[in-house]
Amino acid sequence: MSAECLLSAGIDIGGTKIALGLVSRDGTILRRQSFATSREFGDAIAKMESAVRELLRAQSVDVSALAGIGIGCAGPVNPRTGVVNNPYTLPGWDGGNLIGSLQGRLGLPVYLENDADAALLGESLAGAACGFDPVVMLTFGTGIGGAAMNRGEVFRGAGGEHPEIGHLPVLPVGPPCYCGRAGCFESIASGAGIEKAGAAYGFQSAREVFTLAAAGDSNAKAIIDQALEATAAAAWALLHSFLPERFILGGGIIDDHFQLFADAVRRSIDAATMVPRNQITVARAVLGNDAGLVGAASLAFRDAH
Ligand SMILES: [Zn+2]
Repeated sequence: MSAECLLSAGIDIGGTKIALGLVSRDGTILRRQSFATSREFGDAIAKMESAVRELLRAQSVDVSALAGIGIGCAGPVNPRTGVVNNPYTLPGWDGGNLIGSLQGRLGLPVYLENDADAALLGESLAGAACGFDPVVMLTFGTGIGGAAMNRGEVFRGAGGEHPEIGHLPVLPVGPPCYCGRAGCFESIASGAGIEKAGAAYGFQSAREVFTLAAAGDSNAKAIIDQALEATAAAAWALLHSFLPERFILGGGIIDDHFQLFADAVRRSIDAATMVPRNQITVARAVLGNDAGLVGAASLAFRDAH
């Protein structure tokens, strides 16, 4: 690995899809590939290795042209040890070591981050977080991913692990969460949380709940209002814990409903009296599904000297 390495490989691992790309230092994805997430860890590793080799062949470069491989993976994962421990999203991968396995097969340095952290690194390199620091990013998809950055580094907790912002308690009494508590941010404001609340009224999906709420259905509207209240409560806690210059909102739900959620965050900011609220902005993530891939790839450049 040297400063001459202008490329790295980024891998974004989700519960249903694994996306890979060859990425340049400025965050441009030169080539990409994706495939369905294998339920079996060893099989997934073999597919990732061959996909990286295929991309290199297509780009006509040798494996030595890569500064390394960066992975963003649905957490919990341990970025130091490389071990995945995610029985909810990646059952069958428990205890698998992403760093050790890929490093051994490709002979390159491998770096790992939680996928929400990787997305924030991507937005920081080439998106909505560029030039802002500290930053908090919330990703609203099936679950809720959260990441905080300070002085260019993602916030790390004990053991190098990632704080689980989706499990901030936002309602004293609320739907049970798989983490063991009730009333978590994620269990109310995520796609899965909205879908579950809607199922009680016969609604088929989170998308349907949003559509019916906009059309004036009172049950659907109550579910969305509660999701927005949960978001405002979480933003209040994050604002007073991290005092970010900017909140970035991303994920599938935000693609369609940015303004609703941005307004909820803004309400909390505007109500805060103990912080310099006029300096804090709310922005939409701009890299979309590529944020994790670009951020993961950037990990290899951060350590390349
Ligand atoms: Zn929870």
